[in-house]
Amino acid sequence: MKTVAVIGGGPAGLMAAEVMALGAEKGSMQVELFDAMPSLGRKFLLAGVGGMNITHSEPFDQFLSRYGSRAVSLAPTFSSFTPAMLREWVHGLGIGTFTGSSGRVFPSDMKAAPLLRAWLHRLREAGVRFHVRHRWLGWTNTGELRFATPAGELSQPFDAVVLALGGASWPRLGSDGEWVPILEARCQHECTEKSIAPLLPANCGFDVAGGWSGHLRTHFAGQPVKTIAVQFLDANGPMDSQKEARKGELMLSDTGLEGSLIYALSAPLRDAIAARGSVTILLDLLPDKSFERVLAEVSHPRGARSLSSHLQSRAGIKGAKMALLREVCSPEQLNAPATLAGMIKRLPITLVATRPIQEAISSAGGVRFEALDEHLMLRWVGKKTGKEAGRLPGVFCAGEMLDWEAPTGGYLLSACFATGRQAGQGALAYIKSLGER
Ligand SMILES: Cc1cc2nc3c(=O)[nH]c(=O)nc-3n(C[C@H](O)[C@H](O)[C@H](O)COP(=O)(O)OP(=O)(O)OC[C@H]3O[C@@H](n4cnc5c(N)ncnc54)[C@H](O)[C@@H]3O)c2cc1C
Repeated sequence: MKTVAVIGGGPAGLMAAEVMALGAEKGSMQVELFDAMPSLGRKFLLAGVGGMNITHSEPFDQFLSRYGSRAVSLAPTFSSFTPAMLREWVHGLGIGTFTGSSGRVFPSDMKAAPLLRAWLHRLREAGVRFHVRHRWLGWTNTGELRFATPAGELSQPFDAVVLALGGASWPRLGSDGEWVPILEARCQHECTEKSIAPLLPANCGFDVAGGWSGHLRTHFAGQPVKTIAVQFLDANGPMDSQKEARKGELMLSDTGLEGSLIYALSAPLRDAIAARGSVTILLDLLPDKSFERVLAEVSHPRGARSLSSHLQSRAGIKGAKMALLREVCSPEQLNAPATLAGMIKRLPITLVATRPIQEAISSAGGVRFEALDEHLMLRWVGKKTGKEAGRLPGVFCAGEMLDWEAPTGGYLLSACFATGRQAGQGALAYIKSLGER
């Protein structure tokens, strides 16, 4: 009997295991799934805590465009496992789904736990064996997989392996990015091109230049600022993709800004900071009012009222919005109506760093598609011969450890499920081809 290892029990690894266990002829293949943590799917369960988006219902081309420069690489993956097929698959586990007003698709109770429970049951029934507390350490010199276990180090040969080790955000849930040097060393040894892009924070918060004042930190950190719009600038003015300001809400943090609106812009903001050291965003605190309207409101005589109560009653600016205005503007700017109206419509905030990857929702970077074949199998190229040599063929990769990124809204899980399926199908076909040799 052939044996295949899946390493990583998140959505990508579990999907690969399912495809192989259900797709193999009975008795022809044993699927063994390993995870470093004491239980499976920890990040998936956390995703279910705040209301999990499993996928998105927008038209397919728009959906695909969310993966930016990686849309081309992922197009075949999603064409064979579309968001609609993913929904059907969820229904097959006895879990309903519904589409929210934003087009995001949720499991009917918005939680991940019932889905994971039903899924693990299905996998056990299909014969998948689970090994928790097994940390993958790499390969032995003879190509066996090495694991650190409570009983000491083990090594075991497999006919193929699917790596689904996740990125490096929220490492306490298991995906800590420690696979990067292991795989990098192996790829350097075996491949001609650089195979792994550095892991970077995605869907992350940012630090503001100079930090917030003690007053803002003490009284407003953790508070939402809504509804606002954000634009950001490059050397030539608003970024091309940013002619239209994006509307939504953000959150003040201890050191800067986070929240959905900032996460949605985090990739270009991160890249701009990496290129130039900082990036300035412009907040429109009253996106539904024109500059002229705001000017008319703030110019209204305020009599004996304080500026705060004046802005609250005339323009609805209060709380965290007012605190941001006071943080950025000088007293002179606050007291000059035309300048104040300008600041309300275009409040500049300079961002200087991403928050650490450990705090991010997801990771960018990982195994490059150029280093993988169409089944997500690593191309091992013999350095000496320049031919596809394959000292270690049959190594597939899936999920967030691949080099793609996407906003929140169901796109992350969609790509993990779909690449897990693709890698599982690839490994299955590979194992079958071994049987024919
Ligand atoms: C707070 C939060 C909320 C989120 N909400 C959503 C959402 O609503 N919708 C959405 O689409 N996405 C969401 N995501 C993102 C989504 O959860 C991840 O993209 C997804 O879980 C990644 O799946 P994966 O299988 O690739 O990796 P993971 O789920 O990270 O699983 C990787 C597994 O590999 C194991 N592992 C790692 N290294 C080793 C090793 N050396 N040996 C053995 N095992 C190892 C880990 O223990 C882990 O179990 C959210 C993420 C966070 C942090």
